[in-house]
Amino acid sequence: MSRRISILGATGSIGQNTIDLIARYPDAYNVVALTGASNIAQLASDAKRLRADVAVTADEDRLEDLRDALQGSGIEAAAGPAAVNEAASRPADWVMSAIVGAAGLAPGMCALEQGATLALANKETLVCAGSLILETAKRHDARLLPVDSEHSAVFQALVGEEMSAVERIVITASGGAFRDWPLEQLATATLAEASAHPNWDMGQRITIDSASMFNKALELIETREYFGVEPSQIEVLVHPESMIHAMVGFRDGALMAHVGPPDMRHAIGYALHWPVRRTLPVERLDLAAIGQLTFRAPDEVRWPALRLAREVMERGGLSGAIFNAAKETALDGFIGGRLGFTKMAEIVQEVLETTDPSHIDAAMTLDNVLHVDHIAREATRSLIEQKTG
Ligand code: NDP
Ligand code: MG
Repeated sequence: MSRRISILGATGSIGQNTIDLIARYPDAYNVVALTGASNIAQLASDAKRLRADVAVTADEDRLEDLRDALQGSGIEAAAGPAAVNEAASRPADWVMSAIVGAAGLAPGMCALEQGATLALANKETLVCAGSLILETAKRHDARLLPVDSEHSAVFQALVGEEMSAVERIVITASGGAFRDWPLEQLATATLAEASAHPNWDMGQRITIDSASMFNKALELIETREYFGVEPSQIEVLVHPESMIHAMVGFRDGALMAHVGPPDMRHAIGYALHWPVRRTLPVERLDLAAIGQLTFRAPDEVRWPALRLAREVMERGGLSGAIFNAAKETALDGFIGGRLGFTKMAEIVQEVLETTDPSHIDAAMTLDNVLHVDHIAREATRSLIEQKTG
């Protein structure tokens, strides 16, 4: 019997890599829903090629375009955030969560509530609402599988191990576009410079977040939430070659490292076929040709986002949702040319410091998370307004 699959964020970098894997075995999968936002041509052509039941754009204004592009195909078209949630609620065995940003949270919850296995690329889901997501998965007997390369690597290093034997988890970071830049030049970094990743080919937002290390900051929180370890047990290690994705240190001193090429199809494929390993179309590493792998300690002056993530983990409550919303809004400011590169972390810090504690301490429900997300975005926008006039 073919597996029922949905892909949320199908038109993005992770979505397209997922489609690359499933399109190789068209008879093995029955595609239920594909969702996208602005890229209607891609969404429609993939929906037709994979014979999806429904294609959804998150952008209400693009419904007519989507209908036109799907005309005669018999594929249902829908638009808007509620339609994305509805698509995620349709019964499926495996759902890829690859929307970018906190917009991926509610659809991911819908997928868990219908009992699907949720392959989680959208790290914001765990950053904003970790305990809520884990509880929801448990309540609906749904499984959550990591897709972020570091977290997939840790997950794989833990196969057959007891969590009680784990001393530490080391997640690696390439260091992004500016790892070797003189510190005083960072403030002048341009959008084009921040959008060029040395090793990985990813969506623009996560690429810029790699340069600022906000991506690694989110991943620190993701590690804590997914694996349930203490913040002090998680380390970030700068590893410019991006070959070792993570390491797990055990109490007998062993360090299990996951080594592989920087190709997200490995982690996506692992989550797709889990618990078995299938042949995947990724490069086989020739370590003799690579010669050496190097490591550096992370520099919190260069990357203040790492320090902020530690403060967020310390504070707990809904501070992850506030951190993420402020980060997303500051990133919009940088992409829109209103904020300098180093101003992003300054603004996020200010939002964290000035948010009313009652918001941070509110109960972790989806409504409260979405509410503080909204409040933090407003606060960030008004700070940007104040600072840039
Ligand atoms: P992309 O920007 O390439 O793709 C994002 C997807 O989300 C697209 O399908 C986009 O539609 C859709 N989308 C954008 N805004 C909204 C919205 N408001 N509501 C619903 N859908 C929306 O991102 P990536 O694929 O790079 O990243 C996706 C997620 O995976 C992120 O959380 C990222 O952190 C995580 N991740 C990505 C990795 C990578 O290698 N790219 C690695 C590890 C994690 P459209 O393009 O049609 O506008
Ligand atoms: Mg990652």
